[in-house]
Amino acid sequence: MRSLRTGVIFCSCNNAIKLDFDRLKQIIQERYHPETIILSKTLCLGNEKENLLKMLNEQNYTRILIAACSENIFQGIFPQNILVPSETILEVVDLQEECKPHSSELGLTKAVAMIGASLFKLEKLKPLDKIQQEIEAPVAVIGNGVSLLRVVENLYNLGIRILVISPGTIEETTHPEAGTNNYAGTRVKLKQKFQKAKKVEILEQINDVHVSGHIGEFHVQTHKGEEITTHTAGLLVFASDGEEYKPLDLSQYGYGRFEQVKTLGEIYGELQEIKTLQDQNIIIANCIGSRDETLGRPYCSAYCCDQGINLARELTLKGANVTICYMADVRSLFFKEEEYRQARMDGVEFLRAGLGDVDADTGSDRLKVTIEDTLSGKILEKCADKVILSCALLASNFLRDVAQRLELEIKDGGFLKELYSKLKATETKLPGVFVCESVVQPLPLAELLKSADAVAFKVLKSLQTKYLRTNATAQVNKDLCVGCELCVKYCPRQAINTIMEDDQLKVEVDTTICYGCALCQTLCLTGAIQLVNYEDEMLTGQIKVAIDAWKSLTSTPLIMNIACRECGYCAINHGHLSGIEIPEHTLTFQVPCAARVSPLDLLTTLNMGADAVLVISCPEENCHMQKGSHIARLHVKFVKNILQQIGQNPNRVEIAQLCAAEADKYTSTLKALEAALEGS
Ligand code: SF4
Ligand code: SF4
Repeated sequence: MRSLRTGVIFCSCNNAIKLDFDRLKQIIQERYHPETIILSKTLCLGNEKENLLKMLNEQNYTRILIAACSENIFQGIFPQNILVPSETILEVVDLQEECKPHSSELGLTKAVAMIGASLFKLEKLKPLDKIQQEIEAPVAVIGNGVSLLRVVENLYNLGIRILVISPGTIEETTHPEAGTNNYAGTRVKLKQKFQKAKKVEILEQINDVHVSGHIGEFHVQTHKGEEITTHTAGLLVFASDGEEYKPLDLSQYGYGRFEQVKTLGEIYGELQEIKTLQDQNIIIANCIGSRDETLGRPYCSAYCCDQGINLARELTLKGANVTICYMADVRSLFFKEEEYRQARMDGVEFLRAGLGDVDADTGSDRLKVTIEDTLSGKILEKCADKVILSCALLASNFLRDVAQRLELEIKDGGFLKELYSKLKATETKLPGVFVCESVVQPLPLAELLKSADAVAFKVLKSLQTKYLRTNATAQVNKDLCVGCELCVKYCPRQAINTIMEDDQLKVEVDTTICYGCALCQTLCLTGAIQLVNYEDEMLTGQIKVAIDAWKSLTSTPLIMNIACRECGYCAINHGHLSGIEIPEHTLTFQVPCAARVSPLDLLTTLNMGADAVLVISCPEENCHMQKGSHIARLHVKFVKNILQQIGQNPNRVEIAQLCAAEADKYTSTLKALEAALEGS
């Protein structure tokens, strides 16, 4: 191991960063004594870049600090194991975003504090290895219906081994559109094809599925009657179409009492057989059982406006007079506006009306239907030959139960929570567990097929790119471990196991599973378990160096931001990039997960001189480390209580839980924190 040689490089980004770099160089040299400080103007470009790389290689620096702009630029330019010796570690301080917008004096103070803290960290950092983990098939696809068949078809065409697990039969679907010509029939043919395929194993009529393990090695236990079988899978996919609600509990609509009252799915199943509906009056009522808080289904079922319109046009072709009663609006989603226009031209009547009671019409075999016109407020009575109920799409209870045991989040109506509704709609917070969008929200069949294609693509990408991780995991000092098992109980990945050593209970970490959230570290009262490069003294040491520098150069109050490296840090960066005005007297430290910040860290930071601490984490329901954001909130609450007990302002600690795009929420929390401090 060579002795540490630290080189510091400043770059002014072609003078875009308005700092007094000569003065900065002098202060850094006097305070922290790095081997070399180099000033550069355009470090990322041309000769300057080449000369620097050459010089760094020749002079054998083991630690390099670049104080310039975005870390991403320099991580690309200085790939650690290629251009510089393998134990060389690179740190980047983003002066561009952190210091540029501020007055020169405060900008300089921030630069000194951040560079000082990074130099402290550089001295202590241990080199990390990047480990590529192979992910091997089979891919377990759990569920049923059109979406499952489409996922399996895609994977089968790609030659991937698949384990298909279904609570019923794989081709069975209860999606209301399944009876349309487009889908009926093809499901059975697909199943027959898969049954003959060597790379597809099908398990049907499964009562329950229990999953444990992690990406690359999921243990999937299937229960069928008394028989329990265990399988392994590299990745998991949840795929199901949703289920049409049968409104037996809404007896006023006559469903189950009159054979002329059917659901939309049931009518689709019978449509082929109906030759004529000449002069029949048919009422289609939308949103039955959905968009209704009282039923616990506030969501729009997304298919019924369009399918109601399609159905109405088909019924009109057979000679019927059709009225569609819609609740508040007609949602022609997914570019279906033209169908709506055509339906009106075909003579379909649209009424903004709520369906009331459906009863037998005395003296005829028709139905007497009460309708409340919500535009005029009038109660209308109509005679109908048929009433068709466009009902809510329900989530799969089977998949909900499997997902709940995996500690995946469940949303309104029992749908699963995706990682991000816009950017990562087919992923979950568990690496290696994918979802068809129909499992996270109701979807029409055409959209559901697109989602199934997207899932197959994600699966393929995961199998091809391998899973990259570092050895930045928790490690146990067994001499300090007292075997309390607190860490075992709360580890979100079940990565900690108990062992007996000299008749004493100890723990050890399975580093192939640990994803470095540091939750165990904050819970461990003896300090026995620590995350590599985020050890207690490492974080406290950096914060202390930064606060000392700040306090020695300015009397401006200091708010210490401690942000998780997922949503928290991204939101701050997003704020800088989008030009939002951000209160300037802050310093930011990044941690893998907000749970890493223990109550002791918060109190120590205040005690060392910070005027306030703002913890910035993911939203609890989207926490990348599952429980981290929740634990962070509890820590902040706990410290607020302590501050109150000792007569200090509890508002000196705060938490902002936000997603990466919510820079405005970050700044508003910061401003509220400032105001609270000023008022105290
Ligand atoms: S919390 Fe700490 S002391 Fe308790 S078992 Fe885990 S490592 Fe050991
Ligand atoms: S760092 Fe997180 S995942 Fe790793 S052992 Fe600790 S609690 Fe478990």
